Amino acid sequence: MIDRSLYDEQKPLDMHNLQFDIAAQHLQVEPWILEKIKAPRREFSVRFPLRLDNGTIVHLSGYRVQHNTLRGPGKGGIRYHPQVDLDEVRALAGWMTWKCAVVDIPFGGAKGGVTCDPGAMSLAEKERLTRRYIWEISPIIGPEQDIPAPDVNTDPQVMAWVVDTYSVFKGHTCNSVVTGKPLSIGGSLGRLKATSQGCVYVMAEAAAATGLDLAGCRVVVQGLGNVGYHAAEILHDAGAVIVGLSNVQGGLYNPKGLDPRKVQAHFLATDDLLSYPEAQAISNQELLELPCEVLIPAALEGQIGLGNAQRIQARIIVEGANGPTSPFADDILYDRGIFVVPDILANAGGVTVSYFEWVQNLQKLFWTEEDVNKKLRDILVRSFKEVHDIARKEKINMRTAAYMLAIGRVAEAKRVRGIFP
Ligand code: NAD
Repeated sequence: MIDRSLYDEQKPLDMHNLQFDIAAQHLQVEPWILEKIKAPRREFSVRFPLRLDNGTIVHLSGYRVQHNTLRGPGKGGIRYHPQVDLDEVRALAGWMTWKCAVVDIPFGGAKGGVTCDPGAMSLAEKERLTRRYIWEISPIIGPEQDIPAPDVNTDPQVMAWVVDTYSVFKGHTCNSVVTGKPLSIGGSLGRLKATSQGCVYVMAEAAAATGLDLAGCRVVVQGLGNVGYHAAEILHDAGAVIVGLSNVQGGLYNPKGLDPRKVQAHFLATDDLLSYPEAQAISNQELLELPCEVLIPAALEGQIGLGNAQRIQARIIVEGANGPTSPFADDILYDRGIFVVPDILANAGGVTVSYFEWVQNLQKLFWTEEDVNKKLRDILVRSFKEVHDIARKEKINMRTAAYMLAIGRVAEAKRVRGIFP
């Protein structure tokens, strides 16, 4: 029996470990293999100086954790955020291992981050930070070793600096060291919207599985970044009514619907989301509890827990973010008949197209956007069905089913590879 009182739902690593333990209970995996694959394989911490535009020098901490490399190179984004610490990066790296295994792509899991406040930085400072951080972690990354990508507060421009810095370090251009790059240096068509497009594909599967008609359904999206904004845009164009949107400043509500492009244009022009005229300003907590059919948390971890799970009104939750729902909340949502598509499946579109980008870079042969989206949809629909079959058969929630599938695959890799020496 798992003693759940030992786990704190405010701590992402506790949530990762509890999710793992819950699923492991349903599997017949050798204890030594479980012990091996639950914890990170390798952790790298760096501390480096950054010269600010005003001449001051500050010292920053950065991390790269390779949680698992049994099925292929480490894979996972780089996050710039004040909350980044080693435990958060460990959790995020672990979630990457299970995500890559759920969709069965040949990568392990990794993640990186720098504890900093990118909102207070100029573009030049962000560039210097990126180059120095990448130089610091360059001994352990590489196309066959560990391949970073964008995450919170990092974007294609940051990935371009990663390519440049790593290429200077190596002495030749090496664009396959990172994914989510601009198209002009080997990025893949479809990558920018891939995570969001993937959320929409699995949302359609979840709707079909639960008998929900998506035509005109009400959608709430938390987070207006790469994942949240593009998800809202794709769904708005497909005829959904986007009743709620938010960013770090707070939320907007309009039961008649919001146009994400107009909201984003207003935010970019004013830097003040909440002054958008055609909506009621609300808090992020209120946003999560709005009446809607589909809720897409696409900001940070720790959003749905014991404190608010009873008040969530959505019928389907599609986790664009990593770790937005605690296992405690999972139980409440499951009992209330709310269908949760877990992060390691719901937002796997990003890493899946990152895999396509890496393959295209290695082959030096590029695919059309139609090709990319068709292959993406095939993988996500197949993975959804595999997870959903386990969930129904075992009478468990989709998260535990997804972990069972993923842990089973990683455990098998360890079993056949054995122990060195
Ligand atoms: P981003 O930096 O582009 O956007 C983050 C958004 O969340 C911003 O609009 C920000 O204002 C908002 N936000 C930040 N803190 C918030 C808070 N406390 N409450 C409400 N909103 C808040 O980041 P992103 O790349 O869109 O990533 C969002 C989430 O999706 C993260 O959990 C990330 O790990 C996950 N994810 C991203 C990708 C990807 O391809 N970028 C892939 C898979 C998963």
